[in-house]
Amino acid sequence: MELLRIGVVGCGAIGREHIDRITNRLSGGKVVAVSDLFVEGAHKVGEPLGATVYSNSADLVNDPDVDAIICTTPGFAHHETVMQALEAGKPVFCEKPLTTSAEDSLEIVEAEMAGGKKLVQVGFMRRFDKSYQQVKEMLDSGEFGAPLYLKCTHWSPSVDDNYDTEMAVTDTAIHEIDILHWLVSDDYESAQVIMPRQASDKNPELMDPQLMFLRCKSGLIAMIEVFVNCKFGYDINCQIVCENGVIDLPKPSFPTYRKAGGMTTPIEQSWKKRFIQAYDVEIQDWIDATRKGEVHGPDAWDGLIANLTADALVASQKTGEIVPIQAGERPEFYK
Ligand code: NAP
Repeated sequence: MELLRIGVVGCGAIGREHIDRITNRLSGGKVVAVSDLFVEGAHKVGEPLGATVYSNSADLVNDPDVDAIICTTPGFAHHETVMQALEAGKPVFCEKPLTTSAEDSLEIVEAEMAGGKKLVQVGFMRRFDKSYQQVKEMLDSGEFGAPLYLKCTHWSPSVDDNYDTEMAVTDTAIHEIDILHWLVSDDYESAQVIMPRQASDKNPELMDPQLMFLRCKSGLIAMIEVFVNCKFGYDINCQIVCENGVIDLPKPSFPTYRKAGGMTTPIEQSWKKRFIQAYDVEIQDWIDATRKGEVHGPDAWDGLIANLTADALVASQKTGEIVPIQAGERPEFYK
C-alpha cells in the first residue's frame, strides 16, 4: 500500500491534534477526509489539507478513497462510527472510551469477531509511553518475581466545572484501568471505591479525592488515588511491589534547581505534555500496523474490559462496597 488514506471523524481538540501529527510529524499516512457535526469546523480543518469534507460519519466511512478511520468524536458517538467501519470492513482507531456502555462495546466485539478480522484499536495511549513500556519489560523479565500490589496516583491540578464524581472513573482512572491489567498480565475480579476526607476548595457536588481498589484474579491489588483538584501539577505515579523488589514508573525529566534558599524539581502541569510522545508513537504504530493489515495496540476486548471495570467502580462509588467484575475469559480471537 502507498500512503494510508485516513478519514477523521470528529474535528475537535484531539481530532485536530491527530490530524496535525499525521500531517506534520508522522510518516506513511495522509488525512484525505474529515467529518464533524459542526461542518464549518470540519471545513476549516479539511480545506487546507485538500481533504474531502463530510457532515456525517457514514459518508466518510463509505468513501472508497478512505482506507482507514480515526474516530475522535465524544465517547457517546463512538459506537455508531465503529460499527459503520466494521460493516465497511475498514480498520478504525477509536479514541477512548470505545463506547460509553458495556452493552455497546460487547456489540462491537461480537460484530468484529463475526467479521473474522481484527480491525479496531482503542486510544489508550499509555501503552505507547516509554516509561510504562520500561516497567512492563522489567515485570515480564521475571527478575522481580510476582507483582503483589500496586500504588498509583492520578493527580491533576484542576478540572472543568462540568467534571462530576463518575468522571473520576470514566475520564480519569480509565487510563489506569487499561494500563494496570496490561502491565501485570492479569484480569480484574472486583472493584471498590472508598471516599476519604474531602478537599474543601472544589465544586461541593464532586467527590474528590477518591481511593479506588481493583483486585485481580491472582490476588494482586491495585490502589489508584484520584485527586483532580490537587493544585500542584499533573502527577502520574505507579509503584509496583513485587516479591523480589519494587519498581517505580520513571518520572518526566526536569532539572532540579537551587534558588532563593531552596532546591526545586518542577512537576508537569498538563496531561498533553506528559504524554505527547506517547500519542506520536501510538498513531505512528497504528499507521504502520494498519498498512500491514494488523492491529497491535489495545483492542475492542480491552475497550469492553475498561467499560465493565468502570461500571463496577461507579457502582461502588455509591455504596463503598466491593463489586464483582464479570468479564469472562479473553476470547482466542483477542489473544
Ligand atoms: P471535542 O473537542 O468535544 O471534539 C469532538 C468533536 O466531534 C466536536 O467537534 C463535535 O462537534 C464532533 N462530533 C460530535 N458528534 C459527532 C458525530 N456524530 N460525527 C462527527 N462529529 C461529531 O472532544 P475531544 O476532547 O477532542 O475528545 C474526543 C474524544 O477523544 C473523547 O472520546 C475523549 O475521551 C477522547 N480523548 C482522549 C484523550 C486521550 O488521552 N487518549 C485525550 C483527550 C480526548 P460538536 O462540538 O458540534 O458536538
